Amino acid sequence: MDKGILENLYHVAIAVNNLSAVEEVYTTALGLRVEHREVVEDQKVKTSMLVPKDGGTAIELLEPTSEDSPISKFLEKRGEGIHHICYKVDDIESVLAKLKEQGVRLIDETPRLGAYNSRVAFIHPKAMNGVLVELAELKKD
Ligand code: ZN
Repeated sequence: MDKGILENLYHVAIAVNNLSAVEEVYTTALGLRVEHREVVEDQKVKTSMLVPKDGGTAIELLEPTSEDSPISKFLEKRGEGIHHICYKVDDIESVLAKLKEQGVRLIDETPRLGAYNSRVAFIHPKAMNGVLVELAELKKD
């Protein structure tokens, strides 16, 4: 591919058992600021977006809201830790089309609704050497 298709690293997501307790640690110890909290019904998770002072790459905390949440399964199997990384993209449909063209295995062939009214899609970790990669097209004003 001659041209990159991704923008900046938007966030690194961490699966946690108790979101507010972890928020406390990350804001106190690392000085991150809670920018946004949201329950994403589709994924059955509570999220909290923690940003550094320059507004750069955030940490997204994910706590399951139900036992059948994908995050519950992750915590059972692997315990707390990094769950995925997320890149911003400008046009998620065209990025997904390019990935499909190359035969990259996707979890989402079409975007779904994420936090902040973003549209997101996940690339399968088997296609990314064990890393779950999220793509997010943020809502444009
Ligand atoms: Zn994410």
